[in-house]
Order: sequence, then C-alpha cells, then structure tokens
Amino acid sequence: MEHAAIVVCGAGVLGLTIARELAARGADDILILEKEPRPGLHASGRNSGVLHAGIYYAPGSARARTCLEGNRLMRAYCAERGLPLAGCGKVIVAPDPAERPALEALHRRALANGSPAVLIDEKELAELEPGAVTSGRALHSPLTAVVDPRAVLASIARELTEGGRARIRYGCRVIGPAGAACGTRTLTTALGPVSYGRLLNCAGAHADTLAHAFGLGRRWAMVPFKGLYRKLRPRRAALVRGNVYPVPDPRVPFLGVHFTRGVTGEVYIGPTATPALGRENYGLLRGLDAEAPAVLWRCTQMLLGNPQFRALAREELRKYLPSRFFADCARLMRGLSPGDIEPCPKVGIRPQLVDTVTRALVMDFLVETDGPTVHVLNAISPAFTSSMAFARMVCDTHFSA
Ligand SMILES: Cc1cc2nc3c(=O)[nH]c(=O)nc-3n(C[C@H](O)[C@H](O)[C@H](O)COP(=O)(O)OP(=O)(O)OC[C@H]3O[C@@H](n4cnc5c(N)ncnc54)[C@H](O)[C@@H]3O)c2cc1C
Repeated sequence: MEHAAIVVCGAGVLGLTIARELAARGADDILILEKEPRPGLHASGRNSGVLHAGIYYAPGSARARTCLEGNRLMRAYCAERGLPLAGCGKVIVAPDPAERPALEALHRRALANGSPAVLIDEKELAELEPGAVTSGRALHSPLTAVVDPRAVLASIARELTEGGRARIRYGCRVIGPAGAACGTRTLTTALGPVSYGRLLNCAGAHADTLAHAFGLGRRWAMVPFKGLYRKLRPRRAALVRGNVYPVPDPRVPFLGVHFTRGVTGEVYIGPTATPALGRENYGLLRGLDAEAPAVLWRCTQMLLGNPQFRALAREELRKYLPSRFFADCARLMRGLSPGDIEPCPKVGIRPQLVDTVTRALVMDFLVETDGPTVHVLNAISPAFTSSMAFARMVCDTHFSA
C-alpha cells in the first residue's frame, strides 16, 4: 500500500500552494492525488486570472485577511518565475447615480482592508479607461493584476515535484476513507488504498462530499454556480485596457459581469453566476450525473427559503439571453454594440457552500479539521488570489506542532 506523511486530495491552486507551503516548512513526504490527468481542469484553471486587491470582503474575514497578501505573493512568484503578469489595475464604475452610496461604501471597506484603492473623477477615469462609463466617481484599484492561472499551476506543480518533497499522482480519484479492515488513516482511491499521517482535503467542488464521508461538515452542502464568458471581438479589444467592473451587490459573493483583459490581450466579458445542476456541469447537459436531482432539490430549497438567492437566480438566469447580457455590459462601456461581442468557450463552475439550516450562502473561506484530517470547504473567490497567504494560514493553524 502506498503511504505518505501528508496526502493532499486535489491539485487545484489550494492543494498545490498548501503543499508548497508545507514543503517550505520542511515536509518532505507529500503525496498529491488528483483525479484529472493534469492540474487546472476545474475552478483554478477556468477563472478570470484576476489578482484581486482586498476591496470587497468583510473586514476581519479570512478573505480580507489573505487577499492583499496573496496578491503580493502571487505577483512576486510570477515575477520571479517569468510567468505572464499584467499589472493593469482595475476600475469599478457606477453608471447610475443611485449606485454612488454603494461605491463609496465599497471604498470605505477597501480602506478598512488596507487596500490602496482611491475614488477618482470622470476625467481621471477617462485617462485610465477611456471607454468606461460612470456617474461622477469611480473606484481605482492600482494593485489589481491579471495572470495566466494555468501557467501558475503548472509552475507550482513542476516546482513541487522537481524539489523532490512532493509527488503528484494524476488520474487518481479519492473515493473516501477505507473500511476498518484496511486500518484507520487509509483512503480508498481509484488506484488502490493509500495510507496517510495527515490528510488535506482540497477537492474544490467535491470537498463537501469528501468531508461528509469523514463525518464532517454535514451542515453544509455545495450549490454549483455556472460562470459563462463572452469575448470582445479582436477588432474591438482596444476598448478595454485592464479591468472594468460594476458595483456589486455586497450580499452575494459574485462581482457582476465585468471586462477583463487577459495576459494575451483578449478581453473576456463575464462570468455570470447561474445556478447549475452539477459540480462539473460545464455544458447544457455535459457534466450532469446521478446527483442532478439532489442538486435541483437543494436549489429549490434555496429558491423557496432565501429571497436573496431567488433574486440572484432570477437576475443571473436572464443573462442567458444575449440581449440581457449585452445590456449589462453596455451600461459599463460607451460605444459598445451587440456585434462587438462574440461567443467564448470559457466556462467555469463556482462551488458555493450553503448552510442547509439557515439557507444562507457561506460568505467566507471555511476550514474544518478533525484529528489528522483537514478539509478546505468553501474556497470561493478570491481563493486563487489569496492562495499563497491562505496556505500560510492553513499551515499555521492546522499543521503547526
Ligand atoms: C468562473 C470563475 C471565475 C473566477 N475568477 C477568479 C478570479 O479572477 N480571481 C480569483 O482569485 N478567484 C477567482 N475564482 C475563484 C477561484 O478560481 C477558486 O476560488 C479557486 O480556484 C479554488 O481552488 P481549489 O483548489 O479549491 O479548487 P479546484 O481548482 O476546483 O481544485 C480542486 C481539484 O480537486 C480535484 N478533485 C476533486 N475531487 C477529487 C477526488 N475525489 N479525488 C482526487 N481529486 C479530486 C479536482 O479535479 C480539482 O483539480 C473564479 C472561479 C470561477 C469558477
């Protein structure tokens, strides 16, 4: 039977960065088990690649505490390794004067989190993003940057294995704890039993299922949200220099459809956040499995029991209509016409934990631990940005001593 002192389930950004942090602290027998043939096939490789800058998150929350530091560490990592990094900044615009108080509240929150975001006027906005529309004021975040998430993952995976402290087993699905006959601290996996000293569950959209198999976190369940993107046609890509975002609804963990110039110059528009029927339901039917009725039931309970979820679902489902999607973009950007936007295959699933008792969306990262097992349960945005700082936090709290 294969054994490792520390077994990590999942080679997304969290599995990899926490393994890297453990290795930096001296761990030298780490085994990462990943069900896919390579890293980055789910959220970590399908996101916008934006390094956020501590603007949106409730002061004192784990998201607020790790975002800016994560941004700094990830920028330094990309610079050191020669990975693509666009330090383009971002503007948050408020085209409707009624959004002004929310914009100002966002600025106060950013300052409380230590973010150097500043309020700018229309003239200053025109210098940064000539096409962007606002009413009076906008928020400028100079520290927001864009990276190539798959390049980051590939680099960390390579660094881990070349360093000799970790090995990665691809195509190896973790099924759950093995029966008592195999001994405690043993997993059943697609490639046979694996025993561990410590187990770290970083299974992303499947993290709650694995935690439940260990008898943990039963109060929480995952609701998947699909993030669809479109693109500006290449001839119109010059319309956006960096990132243009709307003022978001602070009650939900999604930021609204926005413009992001990727590191290769394409301008992505999105993502949406529509409830999906499967943890990997990337197409209309693709990724649907036997769990779909249970996910549908969970969504129905949320629709009935949480008015905010109901409003979000209604608003987001309307974005399937190209005209509605266009209206959301056009209010942020002057001179945009429907023909400027083209379809884009990019799609991601945001696994969002909900509290099955209160029916509330869990708004912060959540880590549960039980004896030798540690479970990262709600790695919502900005977990990509935060990952290296979050890894330090997890190691300090759950792996010291
Ligand atoms: C559309 C979208 C846009 C986003 N934009 C941003 C952004 O711009 N900036 C930002 O900071 N964050 C963003 N996020 C959030 C960010 O991508 C996630 O928070 C982060 O990637 C979560 O990382 P993870 O390692 O927890 O999950 P994942 O990347 O999903 O990794 C989990 C891994 O575990 C593997 N796995 C699952 N179950 C098993 C099993 N049983 N056995 C073995 N392996 C298993 C999966 O195959 C997967 O590789 C976005 C997310 C989405 C979906």
